[in-house]
Amino acid sequence: MSDIIHLLSDSVANQIAAGEVIQRPASVVKELVENAIDAGATKILIHVKDAGRTLIQVSDNGKGMSPTDARMAFERHATSKINDAGDLFSIRTMGFRGEALASIASVADVEMKTKSENDEIGTFIHISGSELISQEATATTSGTTFCVKNLFYNVPARRKFLKTNATEIRHIMNEIQRVALANPSISFSLYHNDSPIYDLPADNLKKRIVHIFGNSIGNNLVPIEVETSIAHIKGFIGDPKMSRRSFGEQFFFVNGRYMKHPFFHKAIMQGYEKIMPRELVPAYFINFTVEASSIDINIHPTKTEIKFENESAVWQLLQAAVREGLGKFNVIPSIDFDQEGSIDIPLLTKSPHDISMPQVRIDPTYNPFQHDKSVQVSSRGFSNHPEKTDAENWEKLYGEPRQNETPFADTENEQSSFLSHDENTPVESGRNLLQIKNKYILTPVKSGLMVIDQRRAHQRILFEQFMVTLTNEEGYCQQLLFPQTIELNHADAVLFETMMPDLNAIGFDIREFGPGTYIINGTPGFIDDTNVKHIIETAFAQYKESNGNIKDETKEKLATSLAIASSISYGQTLTSEEAGSLIDSLFACQTPNYSPTGKPVIEIIKLDEMEKRFK
Ligand code: ADP
Ligand code: MG
Repeated sequence: MSDIIHLLSDSVANQIAAGEVIQRPASVVKELVENAIDAGATKILIHVKDAGRTLIQVSDNGKGMSPTDARMAFERHATSKINDAGDLFSIRTMGFRGEALASIASVADVEMKTKSENDEIGTFIHISGSELISQEATATTSGTTFCVKNLFYNVPARRKFLKTNATEIRHIMNEIQRVALANPSISFSLYHNDSPIYDLPADNLKKRIVHIFGNSIGNNLVPIEVETSIAHIKGFIGDPKMSRRSFGEQFFFVNGRYMKHPFFHKAIMQGYEKIMPRELVPAYFINFTVEASSIDINIHPTKTEIKFENESAVWQLLQAAVREGLGKFNVIPSIDFDQEGSIDIPLLTKSPHDISMPQVRIDPTYNPFQHDKSVQVSSRGFSNHPEKTDAENWEKLYGEPRQNETPFADTENEQSSFLSHDENTPVESGRNLLQIKNKYILTPVKSGLMVIDQRRAHQRILFEQFMVTLTNEEGYCQQLLFPQTIELNHADAVLFETMMPDLNAIGFDIREFGPGTYIINGTPGFIDDTNVKHIIETAFAQYKESNGNIKDETKEKLATSLAIASSISYGQTLTSEEAGSLIDSLFACQTPNYSPTGKPVIEIIKLDEMEKRFK
């Protein structure tokens, strides 16, 4: 038998390597920008066209290359950054595998102009699909410019795998954010199809954060810092009030390089545990400076996950730094529910002029002897919270409403817009509730007037119910009399099928009914089933929008989407029982103060605030 084993040609070997290093336009941007930083650049300019599909151009004012180095740079395992294996343990530069340029040149058309400061004349090189097309001397300024054109022109499978321009440019922006935050003293500009996206002057870290994320975040950061022999931890953490549901403003760096570190992320989350709704994530920008030999940056091919030698010691340091930083916000007492006495919930931020007069609606058909409570709206499970429906919970928290002190005393019945206020219902007695604009529920509390956003309150209640059923997978299903169908295009169908098992686990009965067609046979008892198709479609749209890449958040995303899609809306008149049970269920929730998307549900207009207005 003849021999069948042979060595791969360089261009094939490079393409295989490229598969690992170059996944999308953003990977090219990352590699080129990191090289520019390693070359000592202080100014880096990035131009992309069509989200990097047709052009990625990166120019720097770094040290440039000699004509020989310029050619060598494109060889595999060609690097100026390590000489022997020992260097691997003390590497401080960005790239070190000598693979990036070879990989890029194997899957694109690459032109490079470079000149080192000491040389009179520069070098121009054109390489396409690993093949040298031309190399010539050229006049150019010191530094290096790469032009990467038609990425993946010779790898159709990769090209097809690319997402929409919006997604690809998002990835590019993420890469730029990471390097720009790690290197605030270097100026960066990013242009997409000739419009500027970032124009970041060299500055300190705080100003860099503001340039990227805006003033609102910059005004809500406190510095943290600890220095020990193990590590020097320095950076900023965000005000818990500014926290959001989604990831996006969380950055760790180690020795000036972006890293992901789920374990350290947990250390921060624990620091915020009691002062922020569980679904939110605070902003943070933290750099760890450690001995290069005490970390292993090579455990992951794209090198963002990093292993620390003293992980648990660093964890402790980090957590201490975060706790100390949080102390500076003075926020801990303000939303700590275990605290005695009055609770300091942020006041309405609106100016006094924005607060409209309560609207009084009188129902001429109101008949106090008629005990029909379902005229206005069917009660949708406000009070079937699985754990606790302790009506006194909220009163304990916010101070008991004291009837004799409130302007809504006995005559309140006629003033309120609640249509079937029934004095015989024990739950209602002593409770002053007023719905205004069919949007807010008002009630006096010890420290003033509590205002509850009815829609957000209902979202919070439903969210927690959905989370419980999703976690226990104990959904109860009610069959629909008239099953409904949903039709989806191919891409949506793929995503919908990832959502379906969870939907069915909470009590929906949805099945595939031919390609792209799904039939809803049943729903969980506690949602409005006249609207089921709309609820599923809205929930799916929400789900699609929030579809990041954090898998374990799927249940929360689904619960949020469903809660938003099936909550009562503004403009919905509530009976007083409904409002009462809405409030009870709200205060039986774990996190009543915030909607599942992190918006405030409850505001308190304080007595002294009112007094001020009457001065
Ligand atoms: P690595 O960065 O891992 O060394 P690369 O393939 O990214 O490998 O680059 C190969 C070499 O080309 C680098 O080691 C460096 O010497 C040189 N080089 C690449 N980009 C630049 C640049 N912008 N300025 C100066 N030299 C560069
Ligand atoms: Mg490199």
